[in-house]
Amino acid sequence: MYNLPEQDREQLMMRAAECLDEGSSIEDKMRTAQYIYDSWSDQLRREPDIHHLIEKLEMCLENSRAAMLELGIVEICKHCDEEEGGSCCGAGMEHKFDTLLLLMNLLLGVSLPEGHCRPNSCYLLTEKGCSLKVRLVLCVDFLCPKILNTMSREDLIRLQQISGDELTTGFMLYDALKRFMRNTKN
Ligand code: SF4
Ligand code: SF4
Repeated sequence: MYNLPEQDREQLMMRAAECLDEGSSIEDKMRTAQYIYDSWSDQLRREPDIHHLIEKLEMCLENSRAAMLELGIVEICKHCDEEEGGSCCGAGMEHKFDTLLLLMNLLLGVSLPEGHCRPNSCYLLTEKGCSLKVRLVLCVDFLCPKILNTMSREDLIRLQQISGDELTTGFMLYDALKRFMRNTKN
């Protein structure tokens, strides 16, 4: 996978499966994330490490988006979803999200969806594509054969490095928020 130290890689992969509030519905998790955001967002943004990581993650996401556009991936996925009915954002993927990951999206200016607009797909998928900026490792990492067949090895390595920066920074922000919440409880 990415060019990351072994320990970071393990923690990143764990994040995909980590669910602080396993068992709650996605609607409950979104409500809790919104409540935390409404109560704490100003204070969270004033924390120097959180502030810095939000800015860094915005930059990483912009780099990822630019690379996906440049490599034609955005266009291929759009066509696949709209013309071939083939979006790979399957129903139930939303259960892998926890409140903190949703909170991260709110801190990055995302409006969470108000309902399940495509019942056969992930709750977080809207008519315009994924509603989120910060997604699961699996969502960021997955490239189907249709895409892989269009890419050179060099482009693939470059994309993996860019995605790796996005995931590592997202993980660091997740961790900083978790620490903040833990300290606030005490
Ligand atoms: S990753 Fe592949 S299957 Fe998924 S939407 Fe894009 S082209 Fe379609
Ligand atoms: S990319 Fe977005 S819509 Fe697709 S599975 Fe991931 S969270 Fe759901």
